[in-house]
Amino acid sequence: DNGDDRASLIPRYIRVNTSVWSTEAAVKEFISRGYVVGDPTQSKGFAHDEHIPNLLLFHPRATFHEDPLYLSGKIILQDKASCFPAVVLAPPRSEDAVVIDATAAPGNKTSHLSALMGNKGKLYAFERDSKRYKTLQMMTSKAHCKNVETLNQDFLTTDPADGHCSEVTHILLDPSCSGSGIVNRMDHLLAAEQEDDDQEERLAKLAAFQLLMIRHAMKFPSVKRIVYSTCSVHATENENVVREALKTEEASGIFELAPRTMVLPTWHRRGMPEEMDDPGTFMLSPPISALVLTCYSSRRLCCAM
Ligand code: SAM
Repeated sequence: DNGDDRASLIPRYIRVNTSVWSTEAAVKEFISRGYVVGDPTQSKGFAHDEHIPNLLLFHPRATFHEDPLYLSGKIILQDKASCFPAVVLAPPRSEDAVVIDATAAPGNKTSHLSALMGNKGKLYAFERDSKRYKTLQMMTSKAHCKNVETLNQDFLTTDPADGHCSEVTHILLDPSCSGSGIVNRMDHLLAAEQEDDDQEERLAKLAAFQLLMIRHAMKFPSVKRIVYSTCSVHATENENVVREALKTEEASGIFELAPRTMVLPTWHRRGMPEEMDDPGTFMLSPPISALVLTCYSSRRLCCAM
């Protein structure tokens, strides 16, 4: 069993872009092409994902990169793990919704949030890197996101008390990380890590940055929920960062880790119990998807206002 074998067992996931299409219409379209609802391990089989609405599974070798449905933005090629953060954030679906995607490029989670918001209200998508920002612009325009305003700006330089920032209620934080949970890179990375003396130092630097990002998000005066996700397998970047964030003055009396009942109660695999026996974190095991994800979710308590 190696990384490539595991990667080749992962179904091909397609998220129907509900901003412009419906899953019902998508299913009809695939059936008209000879696909059969049922077993996605069969070359023409496909199925609905049991956890993520509007996500379809196909055979691992099915390809849609050249498909007109993909080129026109009706379907998005997005792995299951990458779909969890937006679903867990559950942004509001109303004209006065104000939401932030703090680290947005290439933009799959941005277009997912936009679709969950019904393409209504306002979604500010920050991306600090100018090259990646161009990709973000291209992806959000291809996905017909009308409620997204992209900003080529460092999220940490925003003033939470300023203008629309003060109205933001939901923030998605998917910051740069070691990427150690990405399956098709995993084995090669693990080998490299064993030789890498600087590994701990590198993770500590990433963790310090990730903590800053959460602390900044917690300063937004109306924020009710923050979802923190990484594609790292290291507790240093996951549980530890969240634990440290909860100890800060920004969090004190205001934020708490969401209870299990609020965060995918049916999801069986939670964070590392030896690191944090808290229910708000969860992980996806590699055979299920390409990423390992830890989720931090918090809510503002009314009594602290
Ligand atoms: N959420 C994206 C998606 O699902 O398509 C992936 C985000 S990627 C893991 C992290 C991104 O955050 C990178 O593009 C990086 O350039 C950007 N970034 C890192 N620090 C940032 C900051 N302080 N402000 C804005 N963007 C930042």
